[in-house]
Order: sequence, then structure tokens, then C-alpha cells
Amino acid sequence: MRKTFEAWLENRHELVKQWKDEKQKKVFGYFCCVAPEELIYAADILPMKITGSSDPVEVVDKHVVQYACPYARSILDLAGRGVYDYLNGVVVCNTCDILSRCGYYMRMLAPHEKSTVLGVEMTPYILYINHPEKISGKGVHDYLKGEYRIFKQQLEREQRIIITDEKMSEVIEIYNEHYDLMEQLHEFRRKDTPVLSGSEAFEVEFSSLLMPKEDHNQLMKPYLDGLSKREPLSGDTVRLYLSGGGVDQFTYQIYRIIEECGAQVVAEDIGVGKSYMHRKIATDIPPLDAIVDHRLDVHCPHTMSADYYPHKNDERFGFIKKTLEGNRIDGAVFFVPLYCECRNTEYPRLKDDFRNDFDVPSLYLDSDYSQGGFDEMRAKVEAFVEMIRG
Ligand code: SF4
Repeated sequence: MRKTFEAWLENRHELVKQWKDEKQKKVFGYFCCVAPEELIYAADILPMKITGSSDPVEVVDKHVVQYACPYARSILDLAGRGVYDYLNGVVVCNTCDILSRCGYYMRMLAPHEKSTVLGVEMTPYILYINHPEKISGKGVHDYLKGEYRIFKQQLEREQRIIITDEKMSEVIEIYNEHYDLMEQLHEFRRKDTPVLSGSEAFEVEFSSLLMPKEDHNQLMKPYLDGLSKREPLSGDTVRLYLSGGGVDQFTYQIYRIIEECGAQVVAEDIGVGKSYMHRKIATDIPPLDAIVDHRLDVHCPHTMSADYYPHKNDERFGFIKKTLEGNRIDGAVFFVPLYCECRNTEYPRLKDDFRNDFDVPSLYLDSDYSQGGFDEMRAKVEAFVEMIRG
């Protein structure tokens, strides 16, 4: 079963194009997990996570400075080379500085003409959602709901349909089943003797961002059943927490490097999956409000609560502590892409928080999103794991 999940990471473009041809349906790409993919799904469009690749960049330098996030530059280079031309639309949310401007860069690097009325794209190729940086306090819910209403109307025009509350509730049920299955997956990693490695858990979870959730849910049931019968991984392993950006089908090799150095990532905060989608969507309030609340409960390096800056301890680190309940760690690894303002800004404070609250050391790894960078990281990880082993 693991091979099926792995295949979606290795051949994501081919498999998504194949699904598109077979189903005669559309695919919309998104950059950041705060994008309300449930609304895209409710429009009968496949939401797909857009990521970079190990390919050397060729065209992005025309528009994006070299001292910009290498992960985002890789994504934009792929778009500029037409690799993402099979997408029918791209959803951009107001998140970190460079991803928020990807609408502009995509228009420059990968222009897609769409019909206009009086110069206005009624069904735009680039759909922008101004996701609030401040995720709590008066008016935030209604503000984001307004953004989601516009987004929903754009999807309805694109598909010439009306997305009803019934349809959204149906999709919420599918996504809540997914969140439940992911919770079961992560429960296996919290055990003192995990039965699956961090890299395998990543493959299983990340593939769900590339294929229809219903199909992934169907794969998960026999897979979890298999996990429950599996013998624990051998050897006493050092348990690590991974906090990082730009972690995708190329850079998740950091998990394997950690495993080859005698440790396991048993939990993470990497901007995808359970690390942010840590709870189900409410079903006792109107569906659009429920999706708004769910996305306002994503506590990433870019968000802040109503508190003034610097964050009080309870928002970001409070969230991390909550995701680590019932889990034990011996250390934290910060995998930070160069020039990532969000993660570099919070690292010094989080390093102290991990020391003060969990009494564990931290390792800082800066990633230039290249294969060469990983070879350098191995020695640092080895020394860090040895230090923890004492
Ligand atoms: S790694 Fe940082 S700068 Fe790069 S896309 Fe993610 S949040 Fe933005």
C-alpha cells in the first residue's frame, strides 16, 4: 500500500493529468494549506497542492530575485516552464510575502487568457483570497467569510453551478473522515515504539493533498488495518519534532536523513496536513461558517492572534504544545528555507520555548532547496542525534 502513496508523490503531474482526462473534470492548484480546498471540492474540482521540484531553475530569475524563498522560486520556475499548464486555476492566499504575490508572478511567468466582460475576468485563472494575518478578535470571522463568499461565487461561475449548503455539508463529511483517518495515522507515531517511520507517514499524508479525498479515504482504511498488525520499528530511536517550511515530495528526504542517523520524526509543524489541520470541521453550524472557523484555527508562523507582537506564548507555541500532547520528543529540528521571513523570525523564540518547556535541544538547518544542501545537512543531523544519545 505504501507504494501507492509514494507513487502519487513521485508521479503527481502524470497521475493528476490522468485523473483529469479520465474524469473530464478540472483541477485547481493551491499554494498554502489555508486555502479552503473544501469549497473547491464542493465545486466538483480537484484541489491539488502546488509544490516545487529538484530541477535546477531556468526561467524564474527573469521575475523573482535570487534572495527569495528557494521553494517558492522552484514552484514559479516550474510554472514558467509550463509544468503546471494542466491546472484550470490557481488559488493564491495572503500568507507569507512571496506566496501572497504568486498571483502576479504566475501572470508574468505562466499567463493564461480567460474570457472577460468589460475587461473583468468573470472566471479568473488566478483566484485570490485575502486570508487575515490576525486570526482572532472582532470581525475576523465575518471578514474571512466575505472573502470565501467571493471565492465561492467565482467557483460557481467557473462551473456554472450553485454550491449549496447540502453540497458543502456532504464535502465536510468527506473531509472530516479524512481528518479522522489522519488522527488515527498519527496515533501510531505517538507510541513509544512507532510502527511506521516519519517518512512513510509523510508520504501517506502528503499524497492526500494530490488526489481526491474520497479515494484517499478508501485507501486509508485497509492501510490503517495493516498498520495495526505491524511489528514496531526496531531499535531504540531518538524521537524528534520537525518544524519547517517548503517540505514537499522533494524535501521530505530530510525525514529519511534523520532516520538514517538513528532517529525518527514523531510529529511536525510543516504547513501541510495534520500539523495544521488538527481538528475536524464543525457540523453544528452553517457549513461556510464552519470552514471559516476551521481555517482561522490554523496557527502557522504567518498568523498572529489579537495579541500585539511578539506573540504571547499561548498562540503559536501553545498550538505546538497541543499537537504534541500524548507524544514524547528528545529534540527539535528546524528546517528553514533561506529567506523565509516567517520561520526565521520565530525560530529564536521557539528554540527557547522548546528548551524551557520540553527541556530539549534544537537543531537549525537552513535549506537552499537543492540536493547539495541535503548532503551538508546529514553531518549536522548525525552530530545532533549523537549529542542527544549522549
Ligand atoms: S518556506 Fe517560508 S517563505 Fe517559503 S513559501 Fe513557505 S512560508 Fe513562504
